[in-house]
Amino acid sequence: MNKDCIFCRIISGEFQSDILYQDDEVIALRDINPKAPTHILIMPKAHIPSLAEITMDHQTLMGHLVRVAGELAKSEGIAARGYRLVINSGPDSGQEVPHLHLHLLGGRQLGKLG
Ligand code: AMP
Ligand code: ZN
Repeated sequence: MNKDCIFCRIISGEFQSDILYQDDEVIALRDINPKAPTHILIMPKAHIPSLAEITMDHQTLMGHLVRVAGELAKSEGIAARGYRLVINSGPDSGQEVPHLHLHLLGGRQLGKLG
């Protein structure tokens, strides 16, 4: 828990949010400013700032995040047509919130990368 982190404050229950899934390690919530019809953020409950802090100890957690994202894609009805998972990490990526999170985006044709 980082008291200066908006996502930690959501996880602790201090701030309200549209939570779709949670377990002991992971939480998923709707992005407040969606960039696609489905835009969900999947994140660890632990405050890990970015991919730069990921170590061997986090390998299971990273798989857990991707699995939950895949399950949410199915429950949102976007799995068959396809979707995108994005992790921004660090300044050049435009990461705004320094609490590691996956973006699950879908429900429309997504533009090509690059
Ligand atoms: P990133 O630029 O990868 O750090 O993405 C941060 C995302 O968090 C953006 O898509 C924001 O719209 C989203 N966001 C910021 N504050 C909130 C909030 N209180 N609840 C839900 N999503 C949020
Ligand atoms: Zn945090």
